[in-house]
Amino acid sequence: MFHPILKRKFEYVTNYFETAIKNEKRSFAQSIVLYGQDIAAQYYLAMEIARQLNCMKDADPACDCLNCSWIRNNQHPAVLTVSKNDNKPSDDTSSKVISIKQTLMINNSLINSSDYYRVFIFCDSEIGEMNEFEKKHIQDFGGLNFKFPQENWIPKPLNRDVLIEASANSLLKSIEEPPERTLFLFLTEDKEDIIETIISRSQSFYVPSFNAQSYDTEFLTAVLADYPAIKKINVINTAAVLLEAMQEHDYKVEYVLDCMEFYLAQMIKRNLNNKMLVQKIKKDISKIQHAKKQAQAYIKPQLIIEDLLFSFAF
Ligand SMILES: [Zn+2]
Repeated sequence: MFHPILKRKFEYVTNYFETAIKNEKRSFAQSIVLYGQDIAAQYYLAMEIARQLNCMKDADPACDCLNCSWIRNNQHPAVLTVSKNDNKPSDDTSSKVISIKQTLMINNSLINSSDYYRVFIFCDSEIGEMNEFEKKHIQDFGGLNFKFPQENWIPKPLNRDVLIEASANSLLKSIEEPPERTLFLFLTEDKEDIIETIISRSQSFYVPSFNAQSYDTEFLTAVLADYPAIKKINVINTAAVLLEAMQEHDYKVEYVLDCMEFYLAQMIKRNLNNKMLVQKIKKDISKIQHAKKQAQAYIKPQLIIEDLLFSFAF
């Protein structure tokens, strides 16, 4: 049974797998695309699917069989994360893409039979420090006890610059005629971000954001309508509108700052191609984090909001 943390939030996709796994023939797609804004949720879901497929007992959330333990520690020999930072052959010097050497290594490994259910999780990743929003979000899944493949590893959605056409195409035969007990998973934000030849050979599942309901971004849409082009001259007005909305909803400034950070993080995801804008938003997110510290220091909400919006403006 899927872990309740995931079952509650992702009923549709977890039901699909539970039903398919119970079915003797295990007749489910062997290439699956998960898409949506929440890549961390997709990664944990992928790991949990791998655990369901490999568990030697009943795949109970607390199962401590060898396969479940390996998967929790991200050390299972047949459950592999494939990204530009993970599972590269030793002679692979590429660092920005999932290379054709990586995909050929996978193709070759499929020639041998395996005692395990092989699961290849394709995603992008970054090595670095998570922002506050990401850190907090990872804690939502703490109960699963799944480790990431490396220290300071941050899951990111696949796009065509990372899963390049040559690598994707070299996988097609494996995806189309995979050996038994083999599953390919591709994690991305938007199906458009993956080459059509893979999409057409895969079953796609939309994975809703884990925390979508808990951040109210609706009231921000109006307040931040001019963002990222807020003018200094309008800041006092914008701040007043925001403070009024806070009062109306009975929101604390800490919560509003969380919502704002979430809102901007979503905006980054929608504008990945606009490097200048992404840079600006990242800077502004760090200003929000500074504002949160001010909130902890009991500085008046009005001052915090005005300061923050001034720092956004030009
Ligand atoms: Zn188990």
